[in-house]
Amino acid sequence: MPTAMAAEREAPQVAVLAGGVGAARFLRGLVAVLPPERVTAIVNTGDDRVFYGVHVSPDVDIVTYTLAGRVDAQRGYGLEGDTTAVIETLEGLGHESWFRLGDRDFAICQHRTLRLAEGAGLAATAEEIRTALGVASRILPMSEDPCPTIVEVADGRRLHFEEYLARERSPDNVKAVDLSAAEHARPGPGVLEALAHADAILFAPSNPVVSIGPILAIPGVRDALQTARAPVVAVSPIVGGAPVKGPADRLLRGLGVEVSALGVAGLYRELADGFVLDAVDEALVPAVEALGLRVRALDTIMRTPEVAAEVARAALALAGLP
Ligand code: GDP
Repeated sequence: MPTAMAAEREAPQVAVLAGGVGAARFLRGLVAVLPPERVTAIVNTGDDRVFYGVHVSPDVDIVTYTLAGRVDAQRGYGLEGDTTAVIETLEGLGHESWFRLGDRDFAICQHRTLRLAEGAGLAATAEEIRTALGVASRILPMSEDPCPTIVEVADGRRLHFEEYLARERSPDNVKAVDLSAAEHARPGPGVLEALAHADAILFAPSNPVVSIGPILAIPGVRDALQTARAPVVAVSPIVGGAPVKGPADRLLRGLGVEVSALGVAGLYRELADGFVLDAVDEALVPAVEALGLRVRALDTIMRTPEVAAEVARAALALAGLP
């Protein structure tokens, strides 16, 4: 197939900074408009934690399962049709069970745990899992080093992000977010290379504080973005002054950032060249442009893969790719 091979050679390479659900939906659109092999997701591992003895990488798994077409679409995470015998059995034995991990999901995390114990890294393990699930895009954990994101709440407690999100159900009393582990971590294998070789770098519509924030906190990543030859385009996860899903509003407020597409654009202004925001926020376009960003406004609520593909097209167009 010489024509297909030529098209493949010519297709741009795109690197995407990614969290979980918002990123996964966006990536599903991106691989509908580009050969999936040309897409590399650089994924937050700040949410990683050991649960029930297995190493869970929530964002890496959400992205992998979504690109594999296997995600539980209702929840946005976990595997479709998964059962819960393991967690129920552990619950019956007196274990905490607030982190709901399905049986097959548990087995995949068990694989990761076994491979890590054998000395394989997170990147090698992510590669094995995505290959086994038939995902053609590369999925790169942001670092091999532990990078737990810690949320400090008003009563002084320091919660792992998953404790804040899943156990405490994201209370509105955020005082600070501690990314110091990421600030001392090394970029994962392939991360800086993917940024250097990309024709476009996109920030998925992910939580700017706890998904994109940890990736940007890793030493070397900001420099790589600033020296990359590729334009950088971000997609707003805030639509009409609120997150589509999740606690981004509480975290942004806790850090004193306005909960709006403009607030997010302000966080990214030094790194990004372009910004995609939702049509309902069209009135903010001049203010975002005044930050020095090129802007596109369109429907960004990715209810269907078709909408996600349009959002991806808009981001690529802002990056100068047809
Ligand atoms: P998490 O780690 O699973 O919370 O995933 P992300 O950080 O990738 O995604 C969370 C963010 O995605 C939230 O701030 C949501 O507002 C945003 N998000 C989710 N779905 C959509 C969507 O369809 N459109 C847009 N624009 N943002 C979305």
